[in-house]
Amino acid sequence: MTPVIAFDRVTKRYGDSKSLDALDLQVPPGEVLALLGHNGAGKTTAMKLILGLIVPSEGEVRVFGSSPQNAEASQLRHRLGFLPENVGFYEQLSGREVLDYFARLKRTDRRQIDGLLEQVGLGAAANRRVKTYSKGMRQRLGLAQALLGEPQLLLLDEPTTGLDPAATRDFYTTIEALRARGCTVLLSSHVLPGVEPYIDRALILGAGRRLALGSIDELRQQAALPLTIRVKG
Ligand code: ATP
Repeated sequence: MTPVIAFDRVTKRYGDSKSLDALDLQVPPGEVLALLGHNGAGKTTAMKLILGLIVPSEGEVRVFGSSPQNAEASQLRHRLGFLPENVGFYEQLSGREVLDYFARLKRTDRRQIDGLLEQVGLGAAANRRVKTYSKGMRQRLGLAQALLGEPQLLLLDEPTTGLDPAATRDFYTTIEALRARGCTVLLSSHVLPGVEPYIDRALILGAGRRLALGSIDELRQQAALPLTIRVKG
């Protein structure tokens, strides 16, 4: 089976420093993988490579079996959903209008908008202006935006940073439903606690290198992980 994401000894350099260093990774279809690490570990760099926004200095990235730089832009756009860190919206628009705007931008079917708003728990708030939304509601609107076009791969860059535990749970409840439908999800986080019930495996990055990769049970065996991402036994 072709992996959805494949990194083959991928290095990304900026000047003399390496943001990613000879990273190997294969993400099979339907997997929910957490990308964990401290500030500057290389999480966003990995996502930008998958999106085709930057190119590797060495090695190869393949997404759905093709290089993201060479893949037809429209083809990838429909297969991939992205929620950036600190997503911003036009505050004066309602949640429904925001999705309408993004649906036009992505040239996806606008008839899915109401279903998506329901799916992320914003059905009742669809006509309220975004400026009245809580941070958790904004993140769920961002998720709905990423889900336009029914992508098979979802990239979520630190989606629950700054959310309280209840908002974090609400967010991941939607991810659970996507996982059940076979969507592949890559999500980054500084911390593992709170994320672990929802993921299949975690990749722990440190200074661009792979420190560990495995299921929560496998990671529990490893004592040498950074403190904030150490797995409780
Ligand atoms: P954070 O949790 O802070 O978002 P991250 O794990 O996402 O961190 P990256 O943003 O991937 O980390 O950055 C990895 C390293 O690459 C950092 O040292 C960063 O300063 C460096 N870096 C990233 N983008 C650039 C750039 N455009 N030019 C120079 N250095 C960069």
